[in-house]
Amino acid sequence: MQGFSNAGSGDIVRTIAQRIVENRAYLSDIDGLIGDGDHGVNMAKGFSLAVDRLRGESQPLAASLATLGDVLMTEIGGSMGPLYGVMFLGFANALDGIEEIDAATFEQMLRNGLDEVQSIGDAKVGDKTLIDAYSPALRAFAAATANRESFAAALDALVVAVEKGRDSTIDLVAKIGRASRLAERSRGVLDPGAASCAIILRAFAEGAKTKLEMSDSRT
Ligand code: ADP
Ligand code: MG
Repeated sequence: MQGFSNAGSGDIVRTIAQRIVENRAYLSDIDGLIGDGDHGVNMAKGFSLAVDRLRGESQPLAASLATLGDVLMTEIGGSMGPLYGVMFLGFANALDGIEEIDAATFEQMLRNGLDEVQSIGDAKVGDKTLIDAYSPALRAFAAATANRESFAAALDALVVAVEKGRDSTIDLVAKIGRASRLAERSRGVLDPGAASCAIILRAFAEGAKTKLEMSDSRT
């Protein structure tokens, strides 16, 4: 069974945070087109605060995700604080008490996160939100594992699907959130939440693949 250790993988959270901070201007620029232009700033602030809180401690992945979720929930404004807050707490719950994270656990983690986001946000595929990136990414990961592909191949499928899902938001009209006020005028640009979701899931998948390669080379 391919997997990577929970205890040795907390630094994946740092990698995700780095990618978000690097994309601060990009995410705010996109939000400026159909929102209030704060998405990158909010996200970078929350993810940096979480890294500060983790500094110097090598915690398990579950604990690091829980810290990130807590910080986003409590410290970050906008729609995304609570939405990504519950998502990361959902991830953390799925990994709590697990020693070795295999593809089945990873899939359960993704399911938990999506359920949490939908339970508070109520968005569906087609509403032009992060769900349009997230939902196909989970489906692609699950399909690959059901097809007996390797954990690494399923992570590759997830990355392709999340970016395709992100791009699908260009043609959509926003049905929920701030951008929905623009109605038809929200068509033609990316949804900022879908863009940040693609960055997060890509960074997570790449971090997990690196851990898988490291555990392969030890056996
Ligand atoms: P705000 O809209 O409060 O300024 P942000 O700019 O941080 O918040 O985030 C905007 C993003 O939030 C949107 O691009 C969209 O993807 C996401 N979003 C908004 N409402 C919801 C919801 N109910 N469910 C899922 N995602 C949502
Ligand atoms: Mg905004």
